[in-house]
Amino acid sequence: MSRALTVKGFFARRGPLAAAHPQYEFRAGQLEMALAVEEALAERRHLIVEAGTGTGKTLAYLAPALISGKRVIVSTGTKNLQEQLFFKDIPFLRTFFPELKACYLKGRANYACRQKIYDAEREPVLSGLDEVSDFQIIREWEQTTETGDRAEIDGLAASSTAWAKLDARGELCTGQKCAQWERCFVTLARQQAWESDLIIVNHHLFFADLAVREQDPAAGVLPEASAVIFDEAHELEDVASQYFGLTVSSGQVEDLIRDIRATARRKEFQSTDLDHLLDMVGLHAERFFRCFPAQEGRSGFAGHDSFLAEHGEAYASILNGLELLAAHLQLVRQAPEELAPLHRRVEELGGRLREWMEGRSESNVYWVERRGRGCYLQATPIDVSGLLRERLFNDGPVTVMTSATLAVAGSFEYARVRLGLETARELIVPSHFDYQSQCLLYVAHHLPDVRGAGYLEAASREIVRLLRHSRGRAFVLFTSYQQMRQAHERVEGELDYPVLLQGTRPARSLIEEFRRTPHCVLFATSSFWQGVDVQGDQLSCVIIDKLPFAVPSDPVVEARVRAIRSTGGNPFYDYQVPQAAIALKQGFGRLIRSRTDRGVLALLDNRITRQRYGQVFFDSLPDYRFSTEIEDVESFFDNV
Ligand code: SF4
Repeated sequence: MSRALTVKGFFARRGPLAAAHPQYEFRAGQLEMALAVEEALAERRHLIVEAGTGTGKTLAYLAPALISGKRVIVSTGTKNLQEQLFFKDIPFLRTFFPELKACYLKGRANYACRQKIYDAEREPVLSGLDEVSDFQIIREWEQTTETGDRAEIDGLAASSTAWAKLDARGELCTGQKCAQWERCFVTLARQQAWESDLIIVNHHLFFADLAVREQDPAAGVLPEASAVIFDEAHELEDVASQYFGLTVSSGQVEDLIRDIRATARRKEFQSTDLDHLLDMVGLHAERFFRCFPAQEGRSGFAGHDSFLAEHGEAYASILNGLELLAAHLQLVRQAPEELAPLHRRVEELGGRLREWMEGRSESNVYWVERRGRGCYLQATPIDVSGLLRERLFNDGPVTVMTSATLAVAGSFEYARVRLGLETARELIVPSHFDYQSQCLLYVAHHLPDVRGAGYLEAASREIVRLLRHSRGRAFVLFTSYQQMRQAHERVEGELDYPVLLQGTRPARSLIEEFRRTPHCVLFATSSFWQGVDVQGDQLSCVIIDKLPFAVPSDPVVEARVRAIRSTGGNPFYDYQVPQAAIALKQGFGRLIRSRTDRGVLALLDNRITRQRYGQVFFDSLPDYRFSTEIEDVESFFDNV
């Protein structure tokens, strides 16, 4: 690694970066951020930095990390960004750091399990022509791939059921006892991580690892590092909540039964007793999960006592069934190696179920979710700040948190309180774009209140009007599926442009179609509010229906609101408004992705101009040109 380089020198107007990169433009904000990261690593002081779009923040943290010569983990919000760093930025940086050892690690489900592939060749686990043809592709690829990462296989559907039977998820893994251990892709990826200076992961993997270490410090996959840099750090609270929480689901029981049956068949320890036990656990599980609310979606669950009074027998039966099953598996003579992880899973499932029903920690919110056929019992920490402070910030590696959307009205108070980051240097680097000339923010001030009866009709008319001015080329983003569908129904027939609707096909294919199709319009919800990047004229207008407040009846939001109120805080201003301001900034951030992009942002929610709290939103957004007159939208597009 080249130690002669300094951060200042690297980014200098006539420095190595400028020499190697013909389009390099010196950006004072990028250098400022890079120097702050350098200082954080050297002084071991946490840093929180908001870097507006176009700052070049990726290089602003990667370069100082590499120059420091220390081992650094970079954690991203999405696998997409993870791949972009590894396949685009790292090869470029190798020009300056030829000895750089970098790798990326994903969750186990992304890697193939060699043992499962070999087993599948011998015993029939695949069903249907699609699975058999996917298997042939995977089998052939397994012989040549060096990483075992499924992202390498073009043409394998995201939903491939064959892959789900052959991936390296831990449930059936026998670890060091596996005959393939030495050449296992997961082992190799870990080894590579241990030998690397720069390890690129995603937040899910990072927090899964942190949570697992708490149970068993030797079970972690990530090596010790001097620093962790979190990109897209505005997602940390959500992801940490998932991994520090607890889930018991009907699908987990079904998968477990299926895996035990398949292994028993393969390893020849089937018996009538085992069959009966598995049937019994299946029936008890069905009965038990039927006792929870039937409506689709998320609902609160505070009534453990009344539930047990009414359905105590169903609970006792499933628990008892799992205990008998665990005892039976332990008694199987000449137990094959594959049995150990199954036995462990039965015990863990029983333990989690008991913890969910009887543990009832005050610091968790308990809730139930129905998705399709599945029922999920969830326990989520109401506040992750204490957990993060203790397990990450207090004596772990130094952390750098960065995102284009972390500050609210110029302050990091919200992010710091939610994450438990008490002492950190703060920096806001404004965007490199000239928003005043590139962008107009239009608020449809004349529309009825979003909560009123006439809103949908009036908003739909306004959408048509805006799309005619922009000649399509727009994302129309909604805060709920229902609103999206209703508005789409009203608007579709009125437009002469191609209209795409979220949910009609996979997100990636919708975006590709949008990019390819002139004057296209996409109707979508929250999953398109972030991480989607369409540069150029093709996206010239982003319309958002409402200020994106989290649904107040959502059990986790409700519990957080209650908790803030109980400590004397103001949940609306301390939690709901900042959360919505960050989400709005993300959504609007889709529009201007380069110095040459131009376009209109339209908000169909006049609470931003009529309510006092609206100012917080304005103070959080970049310095867009602003208007409430549709004529300004018209003349903006006339001048494009
Ligand atoms: S060690 Fe585990 S994941 Fe790796 S090949 Fe063996 S069973 Fe599969």
